[in-house]
Amino acid sequence: MGLPRFRADQISKQVFERLEFDPLAWTDIPAAQRVELGDEFLPDLLTEVRQISCDDGETVKSLWRLFDGALVESVLMRYPKRVTMCISSQAGCGMNCPFCATGQAGLTRNLSTAEIVMQVAAGARLLASEKVAGGPGRVGNVVFMGMGEPLANYASVVAATRRLIADPPEGLGLSGRGITISTVGLAPRIRQLAGEGLPVTLALSLHAPDDELRDELVPINNRWPIDEVLDAAWEYADRTHRRVSIEYALIRDINDQPWRADRLASLLRGHLVHVNLIPLNPTPGSKWTASDPDVQDEFVRRLEVGGIAVTVRDTRGREIDGACGQLAASPS
Ligand code: SAH
Repeated sequence: MGLPRFRADQISKQVFERLEFDPLAWTDIPAAQRVELGDEFLPDLLTEVRQISCDDGETVKSLWRLFDGALVESVLMRYPKRVTMCISSQAGCGMNCPFCATGQAGLTRNLSTAEIVMQVAAGARLLASEKVAGGPGRVGNVVFMGMGEPLANYASVVAATRRLIADPPEGLGLSGRGITISTVGLAPRIRQLAGEGLPVTLALSLHAPDDELRDELVPINNRWPIDEVLDAAWEYADRTHRRVSIEYALIRDINDQPWRADRLASLLRGHLVHVNLIPLNPTPGSKWTASDPDVQDEFVRRLEVGGIAVTVRDTRGREIDGACGQLAASPS
């Protein structure tokens, strides 16, 4: 637009520092230029379709419409000492895991870097506006555990991550240590990510310690089986010195047998790793359900006896279809 260079800085500050996305409110820019700047550089990337909350307002799920009508969801979760945002990297997902609602309609498209970043910026704005129970706050953690397979949209996810970490006005100034990228296990991409110099946590959705079962639960296992994907994960841990998180959704009578806990422990032993068990969340049309509490306890116990650090995820947002594997972005 032929404007002086310092205008770019002002705009970045408005967006990333002040979280002011409406150009008409940029009072440090001449009024005549605000509309044109907005039209040229800040189209509405995310239009809110619906917002629902639970947990007394401390869990908020947002449904967004993108410029082309594609729908995605993000979830904000407030805990006593931190706020975590779960964001989407794709509209839909092509990985087809049978226990996850997102994959059932297939992949619509990759999100752009800006569409990913704006989910976090919108959450930060919501928090700053005191509209979330518990008073004003800041986004501490971001997990790429919403819709989509982040490593199948590699370039945008890495660029978005850099933008989240960069200090204002270049980015949102989040700590890289609070960011987790969760993947079905695209082994070559995990190795590539290890070389990006990003201090983020890698989460690997394992869900089974044997290829026979994992082929069914996480179909991409047919391409990159367990030994290959774990090798890539250990390379990630070696190069980043960051503990890899292994995600394991406990599904009753499917993957929760004691022998599978033992097998999992022996696969992981001796590595920089931590297991996060997720009680299976119900999804439409799925016959599977969460493990019984005593079966879950025994699974935890065996991992601990096997020397593996383990936690059970405190699942949020189940009653608003906002929990792990429930994001389907249905318009009604
Ligand atoms: N595609 C990425 C990130 C999205 S899902 C991945 O697969 O890692 C985030 C986590 O939720 C993954 O571990 C996924 O396997 C898990 N998940 C999917 N459906 C679930 C369900 N119904 N109950 C519990 N966890 C589920």
